[in-house]
Amino acid sequence: MASPSKAAAAVAAAYARVRERLAAAAARGGRPPESVGLVAVTKSASLDQILALVGAGHQDLAENRVQALGARITALASEPIAASVRWHMIGHLQRNKVEQVVGRVSLIHSVDSLRLAEALEAAAAKRNTPPVDVLIELNISGEASKYGLAPGDLAALAAHIATLPHLRLRGLMTMAPYSDRPEDSRPIFARCRRLFETLRADLGPSVDTLSMGMSGDFEVAVEEGATLVRIGRALFG
Ligand SMILES: *Cc1c(COP(=O)(O)O)cnc(C)c1O
Repeated sequence: MASPSKAAAAVAAAYARVRERLAAAAARGGRPPESVGLVAVTKSASLDQILALVGAGHQDLAENRVQALGARITALASEPIAASVRWHMIGHLQRNKVEQVVGRVSLIHSVDSLRLAEALEAAAAKRNTPPVDVLIELNISGEASKYGLAPGDLAALAAHIATLPHLRLRGLMTMAPYSDRPEDSRPIFARCRRLFETLRADLGPSVDTLSMGMSGDFEVAVEEGATLVRIGRALFG
């Protein structure tokens, strides 16, 4: 186990490197670096690593499981430096757990069914929260092992969410099938980008977030138009 100061230095260096790679990928796509947000996925990180990242000025953190999210929020509650953190829920969400997420996160990336959208609406209505920002997760590859909505069902779910007063649809999220070759993800990301543009044309500029790209393929995702990337291993090892 590295000492806390060594862990902090390693995270700060990895963060700077990821930021450089993001900026270069944005430039290749003809976009300014600030057009791409970075969500740090903390599922494999230590508390020291998280605090080092937050200490370096980073605000957006994510977990993919509800229980881990709750544990992280509790662990950071006593750390004054973490007051500015915004949490993202990026993993599969079960309807019976929505109460543990609504009001605690700034964006839910993983809405993939009408029944889940309705459960979120009900939880937000009950607590009378401001509109909950959500993305629809698409399963573009059609892999059976992946969560996410089939692209053919996108228009109907988006239209339904638009009728729910406590939800605000901000865009789309997708994951490419696992591969060692980042280029394998490009057609998936390009397809998601086209679906995103169609959604934005239908619903307007409040649809502004395209969450795609992980440690193995985030540069390709940014070249294909991602506005948010979700990165764990490249930051925390
Ligand atoms: C773990 C995870 C990531 C980050 O993956 P890395 O390969 O560690 O960058 C991104 N998105 C989701 C949904 C995840 O579960």
